[in-house]
Amino acid sequence: MSVRVEDGLAALRRSLSGHVITRADDDYDRARRGFNAFVARRPAVIARCLGAEDVATAFEFSRTYELEIAVRGGGHNPAGHCVCDDGLVIDLSAMRGVEVDGEARTARAEGGATWLDFDSATQAFGLVTPGGVVGSTGVAGLTLGGGMGHLSRHYGLAIDNLLEADIVLADGSFVTASETQHPDLFWAIRGGGGNFGVVTSFLFRLFPVSTVYAGPMLWHMDVAEDVLRWFGEFLPSAPDELNGTLIFISVPPGPPFPEALWNQTMLSIAWCYSGPIEQADDLFLPIRTRFGPPALDWVGPMPYPVLQSMFDAVFPAGIQMYWKADFVNELPEESIKLRIQQAHRKPVGSTMFGFHAIDGAASRVAGDATPWAYRDTRFVEVFVGATPDPAENEAIIRWTRESWDALHPFSAGGGYVNFMMEEGNERIRATYRDNYDRLARIKAIYDPGNLFRVNQNIAPKA
Ligand SMILES: Cc1cc2nc3c(=O)[nH]c(=O)nc-3n(C[C@H](O)[C@H](O)[C@H](O)COP(=O)(O)OP(=O)(O)OC[C@H]3O[C@@H](n4cnc5c(N)ncnc54)[C@H](O)[C@@H]3O)c2cc1C
Repeated sequence: MSVRVEDGLAALRRSLSGHVITRADDDYDRARRGFNAFVARRPAVIARCLGAEDVATAFEFSRTYELEIAVRGGGHNPAGHCVCDDGLVIDLSAMRGVEVDGEARTARAEGGATWLDFDSATQAFGLVTPGGVVGSTGVAGLTLGGGMGHLSRHYGLAIDNLLEADIVLADGSFVTASETQHPDLFWAIRGGGGNFGVVTSFLFRLFPVSTVYAGPMLWHMDVAEDVLRWFGEFLPSAPDELNGTLIFISVPPGPPFPEALWNQTMLSIAWCYSGPIEQADDLFLPIRTRFGPPALDWVGPMPYPVLQSMFDAVFPAGIQMYWKADFVNELPEESIKLRIQQAHRKPVGSTMFGFHAIDGAASRVAGDATPWAYRDTRFVEVFVGATPDPAENEAIIRWTRESWDALHPFSAGGGYVNFMMEEGNERIRATYRDNYDRLARIKAIYDPGNLFRVNQNIAPKA
């Protein structure tokens, strides 16, 4: 850290309502860590903000001392974009409030809230908005990149239900973006990531869902090829209320899983049916019988937040992860066989791959209505090499790259920005298709100096 930065710290501490953390502090190591231990960066200063004014103060400090900034919401980003080396982290992890208006069916979440914070608050009113599939993920990063999960086929992506956002812009000013206020900015933040400012709060539309018929089903690899082929045809024709996330996993070696399945590679589908609960048994009967009974069937009625936090333990914070992703439309025969081959080659442990569904309601939005350009595809395919042991990093990276290389030719191009590591500008462009140039022009209006560049960056273009 330069002497000048140290000189300014006392003043920063005085002017911030929140908390300033530096390398000299005991909580520095905990505060600098993101979810993915694969990316370990050491910022000079962490400004744990309590509101928009703190954020603007932190910008000012970064300008004075020429520090690069990173913004932390839930800290889940695969590429570790919530932290930067030697710069300033604007840490919103103390801003997790969620306020629900049950009558208007809306909820406002602060910029550091997680989906578990959000769902716990809205479920008190029997209401939800579509988030992701893991409760500890941040509302902010997930939404700014698009956001898909258990309810995407029924109610669309997270961005499709965003009504407005409060944002601190690069010049320190504070604006609200919505369909009627700064509509260009509102368009850009619905998929364009953290490129345009620091969002201090998000207002979402809510829907009445409380009990869902949901949970995981697991099949052995001897029927996996048939299940995968069937899934690719069945889900797109199923009612919107049914969502399935298909993942090849290794069964965790411990309770509550039956010992006979521990460490076995299997095909899992995490189901979520959010339609009339009395129709669920009939809907699931053919799924339960088509390939013989699944090896494990934990699907049944449950409160939505139970589903939302059910898979949190499968993804413990602090493991090493290497991600790659694609958008996928069809599952041709050759690609099905390749996927089965890669499943057999998968390192045992937390490494996994599979599909999130993005058809149904998520696909009935025009490709240029938001920056999320792949509305015409059915699935996001994701490959996640994961291990608690850094010695295995090489093996998980090799498997992830090999799998993606083999399957990418069968994809629609582009990749979900929230599932990408550092893959370069061409890949970001491919992801936004024709929307990229519009994003670059809006970036030039709101962040001409590219202050927000620790992200899947869109360079400003006048
Ligand atoms: C275990 C796990 C499960 C996941 N499941 C899903 C899923 O089901 N669906 C899905 O769509 N994605 C999922 N993701 C991906 C997830 O959407 C991204 O990791 C996302 O970036 C997480 O947001 P965050 O706020 O937690 O992350 P952070 O790392 O805090 O931030 C991510 C990016 O957003 C920016 N940012 C964060 N907060 C703000 C803010 N308030 N204002 C402006 N910019 C901000 C950051 O600068 C950074 O560039 C998952 C990730 C993990 C690790």
